Amino acid sequence: MTHLRTRAVHAGQKPDPVSGAIATPINQTSAFAYGTLDNGAAIFAGEADGYRYSRFANPTVKSLEDKVADLEGAEAAVAFSSGTAAVSSTVLTLLAPGDEIVFLGPLYGGTESLLNAFGSRFGIHVVDATERGLKASLSPATRLIWVETLTNPTLHLHDPAAVAALARPRGITTVVDNTFCSPCLTRPIEHGIDLVMHSMTKYLGGHGDSTGGILAGVKRLVEPVRTTGLGHVGGNLAPQEAFLLLRGMKTLPLRMAAHCEGAAEVAAFPAMHPAVIATHYPGLPSHPQHALA
Ligand SMILES: *Cc1c(COP(=O)(O)O)cnc(C)c1O
Repeated sequence: MTHLRTRAVHAGQKPDPVSGAIATPINQTSAFAYGTLDNGAAIFAGEADGYRYSRFANPTVKSLEDKVADLEGAEAAVAFSSGTAAVSSTVLTLLAPGDEIVFLGPLYGGTESLLNAFGSRFGIHVVDATERGLKASLSPATRLIWVETLTNPTLHLHDPAAVAALARPRGITTVVDNTFCSPCLTRPIEHGIDLVMHSMTKYLGGHGDSTGGILAGVKRLVEPVRTTGLGHVGGNLAPQEAFLLLRGMKTLPLRMAAHCEGAAEVAAFPAMHPAVIATHYPGLPSHPQHALA
């Protein structure tokens, strides 16, 4: 398979068929011409390829979705205006009143408060499995398990293969927030996880100039999130932002290597300094999950 560094540059992006431009054009448009009424009807019905309206899909955003799907080894991906929009759209699509979502904490603070806020309003049971463990927290009502590969900001690890092994036989859908690892360090789908989510605002974008979120995984789950979560909640990514995130992602593998190198140096330093009480870095042999990392 082509190296991740090469795919980070080329995946999802082809020269523009009209001009030959190698950079993906910013398709700054809300709507699209359908040619004929029949073709428009077929596009709306999902029976013909083509774009109907930028809230659902846009060519620049599609390039970005294809790139992330490629890097994560996913069938499909759907982008959002922020990581939080990805979380809310996923949860509101895949859960109904009476369902249960089980998470292993600590989660990103915004995700945990979002789950708690929506849970109580919409009759979704939110279960924190951090203390009791995942297996003991599952019930027949469990529909979704949510974990982060590497938690923000405490750098606790969750083993995607162990999560998938518990969920698969029970028919429970698994979502991994892979924001902190990026597909350079972990690809949860290769370990049996159904859906991977990112705040592209962080490492994927990498330049601090845009917010974005994405969900990648099997088409059977990603497409309903596009039509329901994205279509009804409306947190679509703008084409300008998609362009910036696409450009940022080309250097992702190079940046992740530099991030890890820098983090290792910073993590090694406090061990020599008496004012530091604790260092949380999975790359250190003293970290309790170093072997898993
Ligand atoms: C930042 C972050 C989010 C939320 O993403 P936004 O783009 O800020 O909405 C979700 N999960 C993790 C792990 C994050 O770091």
